[in-house]
Amino acid sequence: MAAQFQLTDESVVVIIGSGAGGGTLGTELALKGIRTVILEAGGRHEIEDFVNDEWASFAQLAWKDMRTTSGDWRVAKDFANLPAWIVKAVGGSTTHWAGASLRFQEHEFKTRSVYGDVKGANLLDWPISLKDLEPYYERAEDRMGVTRTNGIPGLPGNNNYKVLEAGAKKLGYREVHTGRMAINSQERDGRPGCQQTGFCFQGCKFGAKWSTLYAEIPKGEDTGNLEVRPNSQVLRIEHDPSGKVTGVVYADKDGNLQRQKARMVAVAGNAIESPRLLLNSASAKFPDGLANSSGQVGRNYMRHMTGSVYAVFEKPVRMWRGTTMAGVVQDEAKHEPSRGFVGGYEFETLSLGIPFMAAFLDPGAWGREFTTALDAYENMAGMWIVGEDMPQESNRITLHPSLKDEFGMPVPNVHFSDHPNDVAMRNHAYKQGMAIYHAVDATRTFPTTPYPSTHNLGTNRMSENPRDGVVNKWGQTHDIPNLFISDGSQFTTGGAENPTLTIVALAIRQAEYIEQQMNQRTF
Ligand SMILES: Cc1cc2nc3c(=O)[nH]c(=O)nc-3n(C[C@H](O)[C@H](O)[C@H](O)COP(=O)(O)OP(=O)(O)OC[C@H]3O[C@@H](n4cnc5c(N)ncnc54)[C@H](O)[C@@H]3O)c2cc1C
Ligand code: SF4
Repeated sequence: MAAQFQLTDESVVVIIGSGAGGGTLGTELALKGIRTVILEAGGRHEIEDFVNDEWASFAQLAWKDMRTTSGDWRVAKDFANLPAWIVKAVGGSTTHWAGASLRFQEHEFKTRSVYGDVKGANLLDWPISLKDLEPYYERAEDRMGVTRTNGIPGLPGNNNYKVLEAGAKKLGYREVHTGRMAINSQERDGRPGCQQTGFCFQGCKFGAKWSTLYAEIPKGEDTGNLEVRPNSQVLRIEHDPSGKVTGVVYADKDGNLQRQKARMVAVAGNAIESPRLLLNSASAKFPDGLANSSGQVGRNYMRHMTGSVYAVFEKPVRMWRGTTMAGVVQDEAKHEPSRGFVGGYEFETLSLGIPFMAAFLDPGAWGREFTTALDAYENMAGMWIVGEDMPQESNRITLHPSLKDEFGMPVPNVHFSDHPNDVAMRNHAYKQGMAIYHAVDATRTFPTTPYPSTHNLGTNRMSENPRDGVVNKWGQTHDIPNLFISDGSQFTTGGAENPTLTIVALAIRQAEYIEQQMNQRTF
């Protein structure tokens, strides 16, 4: 039976956001016997509510509240008020996500040491190493049911994958397989195996794909220690005269303001909302926002170097059949500066339905070039490229000086410009991606510009030294011991890998630390 805690209960842990970071942390704490409230801005849509229709599903699940953009990235021009594709619902972006679950490589935790001084980049080593995280990666893979780990077989490749694999192998790539996916390839953990329906981005109607919505949170609720309060958007975190956090103010489902007391607060609103909330919680004691003595809150916003390549073939591919991300090529993920950039990237199959393809293939385009591409949809294959982008101090989330949301909270502005390293890496990836498809006789290829950001990282980064970042190696803010960050905003650098497995591993590790600190009565 799910718990219900009093607003005045000062003994509860409050977590803001129920996605990969918050949903995992809340469940883990509840399993340890720690009484926890998750406040989630979005509604609770269960599996049976999901809709297998791209725009209808987006309307149901995505965070659509106004955001503004600046910087020279093309997203600012094409989608000025939609810089990111993030979910506002219980389960967070793990309802929409594709499931690709790759570990960081060793050097990606130490980029300042390995890449050296990259001009204009605010590189920093993580205060932890791959070795520190390995035991938690193992636990995360086990609970998420990641294929090709723990004896779980890989998923079968669909046509989109077969085209990618054939082209990649012709080019000489060797690390080509159907991925490590948090999607059941067979029944596991009370959830069925994947039915290959192809609506992974719309919320998996079978529950085969891991999501905190149904694979974590109900387990936490069953302990009687976890309450998830949907339609509860936190507006401000409060503190006492000593600076210790005491609770949060949130708008409930009717728009009424409520104050939830707390023993400690963990922020897991994704890398745009988390710094927005810290900045909006500025007070006389903390005039620049909470946990911001370094001035790094909101800075170093990363979104991964991304782009896509689609290709048309003589015969049908029907890429939409089967899992959306059906395979990966990892050969370019290594750090090999002779290519003209530091860090690396991966190719992962991607399929968009016609409604999304029309919006994203070449935003704003019209005319014969574009319409004939859509005509050839049945014969298309597609891939996404995802690589490490450089943290830059000037890429940042700030509070808009005048625009406010329905609760009077300033909207966030997302400022982003590519670093020259990001551009060099993307050009390399476009060239290689097109070569993969031409190797298997593509008749046309379309290098496609980045979509609104799905991987949002770095805006409350981890650092050894409080001067360089916002949180320590446990995700605990340097400035306030009972205030934690538990989402992708704590990443020091982004790696070439999709981030969620690392977010989950960090949340499991953080839960252990929080339990320990509570036992020692640190807060
Ligand atoms: C289409 C798509 C495909 C993706 N595919 C992959 C993939 O294959 N592999 C991968 O690793 N990653 C993938 N991702 C990214 C992945 O979903 C995110 O990295 C991950 O979910 C981020 O976790 P998080 O905890 O930081 O935030 P989220 O999971 O986004 O959760 C944040 C939650 O906090 C809530 N919130 C925010 N602010 C407040 C507030 N003030 N008060 C209360 N609640 C608040 C939000 O409503 C949201 O529910 C994908 C994302 C998308 C959109
Ligand atoms: S392809 Fe598999 S994981 Fe994706 S939505 Fe269908 S059943 Fe779920």
